[in-house]
Amino acid sequence: MTLPLRPDLIGLEPYGAPQLEVTARLNVNENPYAPPPAVVDAIAQAVRKAAEGLNRYPDRDFTALRADLAHYLEVESHVDFVEVRNIWAANGSNEVMLHLHQAFGGPGRTMMSFAPTYSMYPEYARDTITEYVTLPRREDFHLDLDAAQAAIREQQPSLVIVASPNNPTGTALTLDEVRALLSAADDVEGGCVVVIDEAYAEFRRSGVPSAATIIPEHQNLAVSRTMSKAFALAGGRLGYLVAHEPVIDALRVVRLPYHLSAVTQAVARAALAHHRALQAQVDEIRAERDETVAWLREQGYTVADTDANFALFGPFEDRERVFEGLLAHGVLIRVTGPEGWLRVSIGTPQEMALFRSALLEVTA
Ligand SMILES: *Cc1c(COP(=O)(O)O)cnc(C)c1O
Repeated sequence: MTLPLRPDLIGLEPYGAPQLEVTARLNVNENPYAPPPAVVDAIAQAVRKAAEGLNRYPDRDFTALRADLAHYLEVESHVDFVEVRNIWAANGSNEVMLHLHQAFGGPGRTMMSFAPTYSMYPEYARDTITEYVTLPRREDFHLDLDAAQAAIREQQPSLVIVASPNNPTGTALTLDEVRALLSAADDVEGGCVVVIDEAYAEFRRSGVPSAATIIPEHQNLAVSRTMSKAFALAGGRLGYLVAHEPVIDALRVVRLPYHLSAVTQAVARAALAHHRALQAQVDEIRAERDETVAWLREQGYTVADTDANFALFGPFEDRERVFEGLLAHGVLIRVTGPEGWLRVSIGTPQEMALFRSALLEVTA
């Protein structure tokens, strides 16, 4: 029997990095620390309470969760303009991104990004029949701003998405760079939404700003965040976005009704209430990140400057061999980025010690 599969999907494999039982899982940028016991208790209690009402559909507009997210952004990024109407949320920022493509992409439209970057971007575009265009980053993985502005004016994308800090390089944007993208986006006929994907925002080095701070000046700027990394909640599936109300209203049109389950809303709110305790873990990861980068450089590797919870390092003549060698030592990292580079997520001090000793042996 022939299935009427869309021709552009024939032969494709689903996206996903290996999920292996190894000593050090350093391949998908998860938070290595489980939620602390107090957070686990709060989540369990919140879920129990939610369970009592599971015969009913959840709050379709998840108003209480949006208020909590707005408050969190106020504390974390020092923005004071964010209200419930400026917040959107979905099952991971992956679903937020899909909503953005459903609302602002589509046939005959273009989404633009800057390579190397997150490997899911082309998939949202493909799934919504949006054309995906990438521009190469400079050798240091920063944007070539002149080329970026020229490309936006020439290609007229309806969506520009830039991860900051970028995955897999760790590169963060300055506010002037964001403003330069927005200025070119203003010249797109029919409008262009600029999305800054700040999945790793909480790991940025001090002094590095969030693009959320300039949203008041820009109607077409959206900043997306996630609880998957800093909040140690990858399993909870909660991503969110902050923007002006017309952007949020557009996303409300394309979402499925009741897309955020009552359980998801309860779990996210319980975790948000403990953001201070979770931020302490983030600080440990940032310190471990800086030590890992310094150590790799001492060994003679080139390491991209990183504001995230991972580091891209190299070059290796045969990166597959190094990857396999590390795996044989129980250390799972990621083959990604330009040829010759590898990415390691920052784990616990014990996991990073294992990574360092395994790398020394594999490359001896
Ligand atoms: C990990 C990651 C996300 C988070 O995805 P979730 O669906 O929220 O788990 C988003 N963007 C980038 C660039 C990432 O690396």
